[in-house]
Order: sequence, then C-alpha cells, then structure tokens
Amino acid sequence: MASSEEYDVKREVAIANRILSNLGLATGVTADRGHASMRLPSDDGRFAVKGRQYAIDSLSSMRPEDMIICDTDGFLVDGPDGVVQCAEIKIHSCIYQLRPDVQSVVHVHPRFTVLLSTLGQKMTPLCQEGMQLVRDPLPVWPHVKIIQSHDEGMEVANLLGDGSVVLLFAHGAVTAGGSLSESVMAMAELEEQARMNYLALCALGRDYPSIPEELIQEITGRPPLWELDHFKGVIQEGGLRMSGIWNYHAAEAARGL
Ligand SMILES: [Zn+2]
Repeated sequence: MASSEEYDVKREVAIANRILSNLGLATGVTADRGHASMRLPSDDGRFAVKGRQYAIDSLSSMRPEDMIICDTDGFLVDGPDGVVQCAEIKIHSCIYQLRPDVQSVVHVHPRFTVLLSTLGQKMTPLCQEGMQLVRDPLPVWPHVKIIQSHDEGMEVANLLGDGSVVLLFAHGAVTAGGSLSESVMAMAELEEQARMNYLALCALGRDYPSIPEELIQEITGRPPLWELDHFKGVIQEGGLRMSGIWNYHAAEAARGL
C-alpha cells in the first residue's frame, strides 16, 4: 500500500475516534476508553486503530499520526514511538479474522448501554433510530474483565456471529460494519436506544411497551422513494444520498486537523 493511502485510512480512523467522543460515547471518565478501527483496503490482513500510552490520551484528541497499524493476530506492525496496541486489541483482530465482510470495528463504554446490561434489562425498539439493532435480543459477553487474551477475543467474535452488535456486561459494547460510518453510527444508535429504554424503565418499571414488530416490518418492507410518482425524475434510481449526516459529523470532528 502506498503511504498516502495508509495516511488516508489513519486520518479516517482518527476522525472516527473523534466522532465517538463528539457523540458523547467516550467523554469524562471514559474519554480514553475505546477505539475505532478500519481494515486497510489494499491489505485485509492489517488494520488502523487507536493505540495506547499516548502522553495525552483521549479519543477526542486523536490525529492521523497517532494511529497504529496492527495485523489480524493483534500484533503491532507500525506506529509512533512509544505507542502500543490497546489492551483490548483482540476485540478487533479476532472479529477481522472471523468476519471477512467486516471492514470496521468499534468498542466504547457507552453509559446507558452499560447500565442496562448491568441491570439485566434487555433493550427493545423504542424509537426509529437504531430500532433494527435491538429488534432481537442482543448477545452479552457475561464478564466485566477487559478482553485481553486471544481466547477472550474469540469468545466475543463468536458471540457477534454474523450480527453487528455485542454487549459486554457492565463494561461496554462492540459494533462491526462494512465501513467506519456503519460501525460508529451503529454504536451511536445503540446508545440512543439504550437511553430511551432507560427513560422508559424509570417511567414505567421493567415491563414497558415497545414498537410492535409489525410496525417495524411496515417501515422496512416499503418501495424506495424513487418508485413513488412524486419522486420519479427527481431522485434517480439508487440515488438517495444517506451519507450527509456522517459527512457532517466527520467535518465537525476534523476541525483543527
Ligand atoms: Zn473496554
């Protein structure tokens, strides 16, 4: 891979880490907890990720040159002097090993998601954003310890299966996707559902209603907008732009880089 390509990936990953902070998923006591990663497009055996042992460590302060390159066994390939892999690098490397389709992995400690796992309260769909993520019960890794060993990483990767979310009991969550935007926004939407579930729990106790499955199916089974008469010729087939919100978050996060 040309170094300019590698720099571009590191820049995208640094921005993704900043977005996680901007969205409130790694702030305050969790400012340095978590990491976003992305596979190198021209080398699927390596990925760029936030490291550890920075003089100043927070997701919000990450720059392209702070990112490290690891292989899919979790070994350090390249990075700034003194910077090493995060302790939980096996979350990323094991998922990349088991899921060739996954291009990006995110792990953070989002407060409402963590709290609900500790309380044993299952998330159910309560608003549009992220409702698909919590439609079925989410897998939970039943340990508070961090994921350090290869076996622990494989346990989490196996729990993920072919899904996109794993909860880590009283600790955090992991999301995986086909791009940085998918994995980061899945984490943001998961936390939004968790916040809604927490509010419902406070308001009504453990047994609160949620969006019925048939109403979710009504939304997902619809024809695309460009097939409707009033959008024909206005929106081209397949031409619905959905990346605007990600570009907004990325532009905000890239300020000062
Ligand atoms: Zn963690």
